[in-house]
Amino acid sequence: EGAIEFRNVNFAYHAERPILKNLSFKVNPGEKVAVVGPSGAGKSTLARLLFRFYDLQNGEILIDNQPINRVSQLSLRQAIGVVPQDTVLFNDTIFSNVAYGRPEAAPEEVNTAIRMANLDRFIEALPEGPDTRVGERGLKVSGGEKQRIAIARVILKKPPILLFDEATSALDSATEKAILSSLNSLAKNHTSLVIAHRLSTIIDADQILVMDSGEIIERGTHQQLLTMN
Ligand code: ADP
Ligand code: ADP
Repeated sequence: EGAIEFRNVNFAYHAERPILKNLSFKVNPGEKVAVVGPSGAGKSTLARLLFRFYDLQNGEILIDNQPINRVSQLSLRQAIGVVPQDTVLFNDTIFSNVAYGRPEAAPEEVNTAIRMANLDRFIEALPEGPDTRVGERGLKVSGGEKQRIAIARVILKKPPILLFDEATSALDSATEKAILSSLNSLAKNHTSLVIAHRLSTIIDADQILVMDSGEIIERGTHQQLLTMN
């Protein structure tokens, strides 16, 4: 339930310039893994290959021992909940934005997801109350709140795998910590892969993969990485 494996994955946008170089790693079900490294290291490329935004060129990616190119796009979308860097909201209520695509979800389930993502103000406070639409009566949603709306959607969907790409998100570190902590409480029952850009936000990851120039140059827990250097 949610195992991820990369086996000797190579990837290039242009043949003459390899981006991912023989990348191999395993994430066990329920494990929380963070990928860190400088901008341009290939973190987002890795993430996009996992949810098949790009097709695999070389090597293998397996989810629960199934090669992803043999899994339908639909089951892949059901298996992976992606919290993207930038979430597009509809000109509708926060409730509808969270419940979008899940007509079967009970209202109390949607509200629970909203609370778990620390978006309570949209349930309780006026004028940002339940009936206010995005952009109406001055309802403004910050970048951090947009990401939390994406998290609430994922909570509602309950996929076995969470993929949180915060690689280039321009969140301040307090907002980022708050988002990751709502993600962490959620992640207990899921496998999660977090593309992070600050080591301080992922201290409790089971495994940290440090990438540079398309390769994993170090791996271990936060504590192990500290004692290595
Ligand atoms: P990171 O997420 O670690 O910042 P990326 O995976 O976004 O790294 O990028 C890795 C390298 O691939 C960078 O040099 C980037 O410019 C390049 N790259 C990313 N996306 C594309 C693309 N669509 N076409 C060509 N090059 C790309
Ligand atoms: P991200 O915010 O995911 O790191 P970037 O800001 O690097 O993305 O790039 C934004 C978009 O441009 C992405 O779709 C990415 O794939 C693409 N891109 C990134 N680098 C390059 C590049 N060197 N050549 C072409 N497209 C690129």
